[in-house]
Amino acid sequence: MLTRTDLRGRVPSNAELRATLPRAEMDVEHVLHQVRPVIESVRDDGVRAVLDHTEKFDRVRPERVRVGADELRRALDELDPAVRSALEESIARARKVHADQRRTDTTTRVAPGGTVTERWVPVARVGLYAPGGLAVYPSSVVMNVVPAQAAGVESLVVCSPPQAEFGGLPHPTILAAAELLGVDEVWAVGGAQAVALLAYGAEDTDGAALEPADMVTGPGNVYVTAAKRHLRSLIGIDSEAGPTEIAVLADDTADPVHVAADLISQAEHDTLAASVLVTTSERLADAVDAELARQVPLTKHTERIRTALTSVQSGCILVAGIADGIRVVDAYAAEHLEIQTADADAVAARVRNAGAIFVGPYAPVSLGDYCAGSNHVLPTGGCARHSSGLSVQSFLRGIHVISYTEQALRDVAGQVVALADAEDLPAHGQAVTARFPD
Ligand code: NAD
Repeated sequence: MLTRTDLRGRVPSNAELRATLPRAEMDVEHVLHQVRPVIESVRDDGVRAVLDHTEKFDRVRPERVRVGADELRRALDELDPAVRSALEESIARARKVHADQRRTDTTTRVAPGGTVTERWVPVARVGLYAPGGLAVYPSSVVMNVVPAQAAGVESLVVCSPPQAEFGGLPHPTILAAAELLGVDEVWAVGGAQAVALLAYGAEDTDGAALEPADMVTGPGNVYVTAAKRHLRSLIGIDSEAGPTEIAVLADDTADPVHVAADLISQAEHDTLAASVLVTTSERLADAVDAELARQVPLTKHTERIRTALTSVQSGCILVAGIADGIRVVDAYAAEHLEIQTADADAVAARVRNAGAIFVGPYAPVSLGDYCAGSNHVLPTGGCARHSSGLSVQSFLRGIHVISYTEQALRDVAGQVVALADAEDLPAHGQAVTARFPD
């Protein structure tokens, strides 16, 4: 089922690899011209424009944007107890990991009387987008809210598209997840209009203020991503999430049943999802193919999965040895990387580029999607070469606080003046010497 590329003769250079490895593109530029008028109308006409777009794209017109406290409580009361307990476990594990990511301020004494303190300050108000088009993702609410709360963000608002079948409210599981997490502000709005509303703020239909956010995080479809790209100078954003990806680096010790199941689980997200097997073993590649042929027809979303696995972004790459395999997965820089080889810990330690690494036979990506404690908002499209997933750090700013005594400034005045003169900015030097007329 997977198209095969044989690199056992020669592994190409990194540049060649990046150009030839399978990858799906999300054409964000293409929809920018559709998204721009949506954003401008929300900026100019506020909630009226939001509701017009909602009516057009979501086929429902809620009475208000902000979801009421009683509606949040009811969603949690009516949540299936098994889902509630699973969400509680997911939240507890994520909180454990993210609590350990908190930063402490550091003060460096640069010279006698001169210090620089790095003070970590959370973003004041954050908007978290929880998708709600084709599927609903309460797990994404957990993965966005937990690090923001651990960072100390004081004001959080969750946005998710209103659903006609739920009377214009977001999906009840999204509301229940927000309530469980202690988020009391949820807006029923999706798509580009949600990002615009978060960026500009507005007045709700009952006159209540919908305050603008300083930063917007969370995955979404191409319209959400285009709006984040367009508004990124006005608001901070986490990243532009592209189609999801898994790469599995495996040798002949891997179980083909597990490898196939993991490739399928990623393909289940989206027809653009990428499932890539990199292996030293032709025997394993054959066995995984046979397993895919057996397992895919048994899944609920067979056609979506088959399309994803047989499209250009998915495939199987044969390599001569593990070292070559590591070169290939490093060049690919997968959002999710599984290591299913002998001595998996040692192999994982040699990998440089991945959003998250799942080591050995008992750490499938689905564990990380929900209950590993790790964050599942991860860099896609090769961005793992330079970026990390969502974390407490994403919601913090490190502010340098500079404190120098008179003597400490006097001690370094000559060097400041010399550098200012070298840059032909003499007024910079004079701002120092003006303090020492003697
Ligand atoms: P979504 O909430 O992102 O988008 C739905 C909204 O899009 C609707 O509210 C509607 O207003 C707007 N819309 C629909 N058609 C439009 C059009 N023609 N023009 C303008 N706006 C339009 O939900 P979705 O569509 O299901 O997409 C969710 C995406 O998020 C998927 O691609 C999924 O794979 C991804 N995702 C990624 C992660 C991750 O961690 N990387 C997690 C969950 C979801």
